[in-house]
Amino acid sequence: MQPLRGTRDILPNEMQSWQYIHNIANKILNQNNYKEVQTPIIENTELFTRSIGNFTDIVNKEMYSFCDQSNRNITLRPEGTASIARAIISNKLYVDSQISRLWYMGPMFRYERPQKGRQRQFHQLGIECIGSFNPIADVEVIKLAIQVLSKLGCISEYELDINCIGNIEERELYKVQLVEYLHKYKDELDNDSKTRLNKNPLRILDSKNTKTQEILQTGPILKNYLNKASLDHFNQVCEHLEYLQISYNINNYLVRGLDYYNYTAFEIKTKTINNQNTVCGGGRYDRLIEQLGGPNIPAVGWAIGIERILILANNYLKTQAQVTNTSIYVAVRNDNYHNSYMVWDILNILEEYNIKFELDLSNSNLSRQIKKASRLKATICLILGENENYNKFVTIKWLNTGMQQQIHFVELKEYMKYIKKTIIT
Ligand code: ATP
Ligand code: MG
Repeated sequence: MQPLRGTRDILPNEMQSWQYIHNIANKILNQNNYKEVQTPIIENTELFTRSIGNFTDIVNKEMYSFCDQSNRNITLRPEGTASIARAIISNKLYVDSQISRLWYMGPMFRYERPQKGRQRQFHQLGIECIGSFNPIADVEVIKLAIQVLSKLGCISEYELDINCIGNIEERELYKVQLVEYLHKYKDELDNDSKTRLNKNPLRILDSKNTKTQEILQTGPILKNYLNKASLDHFNQVCEHLEYLQISYNINNYLVRGLDYYNYTAFEIKTKTINNQNTVCGGGRYDRLIEQLGGPNIPAVGWAIGIERILILANNYLKTQAQVTNTSIYVAVRNDNYHNSYMVWDILNILEEYNIKFELDLSNSNLSRQIKKASRLKATICLILGENENYNKFVTIKWLNTGMQQQIHFVELKEYMKYIKKTIIT
C-alpha cells in the first residue's frame, strides 16, 4: 500500500524538526502577542469560493471538494486565511478586543502536480493581524516572517518582493486598461494567459512565460492607477522596512493567487530552490471579513510553506532539533516463576526524575539486552535478572567503561537522584 499521490508520512525522525519549527514559531509569535488557533480542516465549499475567488487557480482546479452524506458541499481547506476570517465571524472575536493576533500551523490541501516542494497535502505556518489599517501592522507581520525564517535557518539568501495592489476600484480601472493592452498581443500570449485574459487578467502579471513577461514590460502598470491613500500606505510600509533594514524589491508584477488581497502584497523567495522558491506569501485583506458577512475589519497576514523550509534548512533543523539519546536502558527478565514487578517501581523512579529510558521488551537473555543498550548509546543499563529480583537489588552497568555495581532497591531512588543531577542532565 502506498500513500495517496502528493501526500507523505512524516516519520518520527522528521517529527523533531517539525516540533522545533512549532516551538520557534510559538516563542517568537507568542512574545509578540500572537495566539495560536486551530480551525477545522473541512469547511463549507462556499467559504473558499466566496473568499479566494472563483477564477483563481485554487478554486478553479485545485480544491478537494466533496459532498458529504447529507449532500453538503465540503472542501478540505486549501489555505488558512479564509478559515480564520470565518472563525473571527463565527466566534465574534472582534467584540472583546479591537485587535486579534492569531497564528496557526497545519495541513492544507490542493490538487496540484506533485513535485519537489509541492504536495497535495502540505503544511503552512501562518499569522493574521486582524483589526488594523495601520501600515505598521503590515510591517509587523513582514518583520515576523523574516524573524521566523531566520530563526529556522533559511533566510541567508532571501528576497522580499513587495507590491501595492490597491483596492478593488483601482484594480478594476487597471484591469480594463491591461486587458485592452493585452488584447493587441493576444496571439503571442501563453495559453494560460489567454484563458486568464477573460477570467482573471491580473494573474497574467504573474506568468512565468518569458514572451508574456516581455509583452507585459511595455504594458500599463498597476501603480499608475493607484490613488493617494494607496500610495501613502505603501510608502509608509517601505519606509518602515528601510528603518528596520529589511531589504525589499518593489515588484510591480507581483499579484497573489487569491482575490481577497488589497494594498500590500508580498512574497519571500529564496534563491536556492529552483521553481518552488516562494517560502512565504502574504498581504493585506481589508474586505474579506466583511465580504464573508462579518463587520468591516481590516487585516494583514502571511503563510509560510513548511515543506519548503524543510528542503532549505533540513540539516540546520536536524542539528537544532537533535534529541538526546535514551539515557537509561532497562534490561529485564520475566518468566512464569519470576514476575519482575520491581521493574514498575524502577520506571516510576526514572519518571520521577525525568530521566529518558527505554524498557527492553524482548525478554531475551540479559547479555543480549545489554548489547542492545550499548548499540543505542545509552549511558547506563539497569539490569533486573532473576538474582536481582529475588534479592531486591538492581545491577547498574556503565556502558562506556563496562563498570558494574549493585544497588539495593531501597537506595535506588537516592542514587537516581544523584545520577540525574551529576551525569544525565
Ligand atoms: P506557489 O506559487 O509556489 O504555488 P502560492 O502562491 O500558491 O505558491 P500561497 O497560497 O501564497 O502559495 O501559500 C503560501 C506558501 O505555502 C507558499 O509560499 C509555499 O511555500 C506554500 N505552498 C503553497 N502551495 C504548496 C504546495 N502545493 N505544496 C507545498 N507548499 C505549498
Ligand atoms: Mg500555488
